[in-house]
Amino acid sequence: MTTDTRTDIRLAQLHLYVDIHLHDRYLAPPLTLVVAAMLTNWVPVAWATSWAIAELLIIANYIRVYRAFKCSKAAPGDETHWVRRIALAHGAHMLAWSSLVFWAWQQGSFPSLVFIMLVHIGLIALTTSMSNAHLRMLAFDMIFPILALLGPPLLDPGLFNIGLCLLGAGFSALMIQVARQINAYATEALQLRQRNEILISELESQASRDALTGLINRRYFLTAAEQLLQTAQRTPQVLALLIIDLDHFKQVNDQYGHLAGDEVLVAVVNAFTRHLRSGDCLGRLGGEEFALLLPETTLSDAIDTAERLRQTTADLRLNLQGHPVQPTVSIGIALLQEEDRSLSSLMHRADLAMYAAKTQGRNRVVCATPETAPEMRNPAANTASTPA
Ligand code: GH3
Ligand code: MG
Ligand code: MG
Repeated sequence: MTTDTRTDIRLAQLHLYVDIHLHDRYLAPPLTLVVAAMLTNWVPVAWATSWAIAELLIIANYIRVYRAFKCSKAAPGDETHWVRRIALAHGAHMLAWSSLVFWAWQQGSFPSLVFIMLVHIGLIALTTSMSNAHLRMLAFDMIFPILALLGPPLLDPGLFNIGLCLLGAGFSALMIQVARQINAYATEALQLRQRNEILISELESQASRDALTGLINRRYFLTAAEQLLQTAQRTPQVLALLIIDLDHFKQVNDQYGHLAGDEVLVAVVNAFTRHLRSGDCLGRLGGEEFALLLPETTLSDAIDTAERLRQTTADLRLNLQGHPVQPTVSIGIALLQEEDRSLSSLMHRADLAMYAAKTQGRNRVVCATPETAPEMRNPAANTASTPA
């Protein structure tokens, strides 16, 4: 297991610890009041009340820290910081409850003995069962209950009291051993979950991305584009679609081989991505054909973007097996119209415009709108007859 995976797991363990301890918010406050009422058997009401108020504040504080941790989106590197904060906040609670043993201590009193035993059982059993998700937190949480269990008999060391100590220590050691075993099983489950999450995200990425260029593939582009289109229709807002096709790409493959063709595709996509905004959606439709959806983009902005993509491609100077190659692209633009019911009609118009760019000589941008016939842009830039 790498260091990264170990800190990942420790963070997941801390989440599990906090999830389990968040149940305290329902049970700890009423139990505090019950215990404070019982405490009046042995201490003045004012002391019991002070204990209850202090403990309620402590509970409110550690629940606040738990919530802050859950909302913090903590990274694995933050685990030590959060363990420290949580150990301090929850440690105060363990100290308050462990101190009950001393508050209720009454030599020869049966109710005092039963109360103290119940507090011991509750503290040791609840801590080992609730804190076992995270071993360091378990160690912190056990400090005060164990001191409360072993401390009082050791203050008066006789044979009987030493026996009590050994009994308490033996039970505690057994409980801790069981807690460690449960921790091992829980860790295994967390590791499995972590591996599943990694596998699922890898599978999703493989299913949605084109392996060569890293762009989203046709299926995912169509899904993403459909959603952007619906948002644009609801809002309503302007939206443009570009269909981009490499010119004479077959000749590159024929002359320099398929791998060289792949190199050209990657270089062109890398050049494109330098000119895109964060909301733009670029996908590989298949082969040497790409689609780019530009949300909140007017026709003139779409033409500017298309021109930049065309120019940046034409500016590429690639070297394939010692031969200089200058790829070019033909781009068709269509703007979303009110009568567009689906993505397919928008894509169809952009496709027609792209084919118009091909027939008009390639290496150019052509716009299509329902009102006007495909309109050629930048005819002067034509290098069509030059192979890519
Ligand atoms: P036009 O200017 O009319 O678009 O001509 P073209 O040669 O680009 O178009 P055509 O449709 O005739 O050929 C496209 C070629 O793209 C054919 C195919 O072998 C190639 N191709 C498709 N996918 C890949 C790929 O992933 N890698 C490589 N190297 N070539 C590919
Ligand atoms: Mg082509
Ligand atoms: Mg094509």
